[in-house]
Amino acid sequence: MRTVPSQHSVKPVVVVGAGVAGLVSAHLLLEAGVPVVVVERQPEIGGLAKSFVYDGFVFDCGPHRFHVENPNVKRYLERVLADRATYFPRRSEVYFEGSYYNWPLHPKNLLQLPKDLAVRSLGDLAFGGLKKYTSDTFEDYVRFVSDVLGRYGASDVSVMLALVSLVRNCVEVLPPGSPRLAILDEAAVVALADAERAIPRTSDVERVRIAVTSLRRTIGVRQGSSAQAGRR
Ligand SMILES: Cc1cc2nc3c(=O)[nH]c(=O)nc-3n(C[C@H](O)[C@H](O)[C@H](O)COP(=O)(O)OP(=O)(O)OC[C@H]3O[C@@H](n4cnc5c(N)ncnc54)[C@H](O)[C@@H]3O)c2cc1C
Repeated sequence: MRTVPSQHSVKPVVVVGAGVAGLVSAHLLLEAGVPVVVVERQPEIGGLAKSFVYDGFVFDCGPHRFHVENPNVKRYLERVLADRATYFPRRSEVYFEGSYYNWPLHPKNLLQLPKDLAVRSLGDLAFGGLKKYTSDTFEDYVRFVSDVLGRYGASDVSVMLALVSLVRNCVEVLPPGSPRLAILDEAAVVALADAERAIPRTSDVERVRIAVTSLRRTIGVRQGSSAQAGRR
């Protein structure tokens, strides 16, 4: 059996900070019969998730909702909020450089990025992703790029088109004759084969085929031989 300590026999627990974590800790301690002192350095409580009144209007800082995976946390919130809880589907966007991006990010969002940033992001993705392969070879790089295209794009035509377009951005900034052009060309071939295998609608596959063919033509021109793209 759990015994509830008497208020007189227990020294108060000092909780530093009245953000969500501090307030919930204090609440649970109080429920268990432990006296609590919460210390907060700001004039308002709530921490990153606080609200304040200015000129008669309430302004919310940070989040004012919970997306909860942990069943214990969910049970706690439902108990505390009771009939004041409101449920709605999560749809978050982040505003950056003039565009709204899904949150969590979706591969499609790469297309919205300014071109130089998109290319650098793909580079980061490539170098981060390469770490899981055993050696840093041309073959690994192709496998990685095809993996990304396959994992995110093979069954979704719009994602596949977005990724093809992203690769085109890379092609445009690589110097003519760069050996990386051949790598991207190889990845485009693998991506098309993946799309042909995984995308069910013939018309969608055709859209990917047109995009990949056009991309390979651009790569061919950049490599200094427009004939190359049509050779395979
Ligand atoms: C824009 C934004 C959007 C977010 N969206 C979400 C979301 O949708 N869902 C979600 O779950 N999370 C979201 N988060 C994260 C969430 O806000 C934080 O994880 C959460 O508020 C952190 O709570 P906390 O109590 O740990 O810390 P904090 O909120 O940082 O609270 C710490 C408190 O301690 C006080 N403090 C610090 N040092 C001292 C001291 N020495 N003495 C006295 N007081 C002190 C501070 O003033 C503050 O009030 C978001 C955050 C931001 C900024």
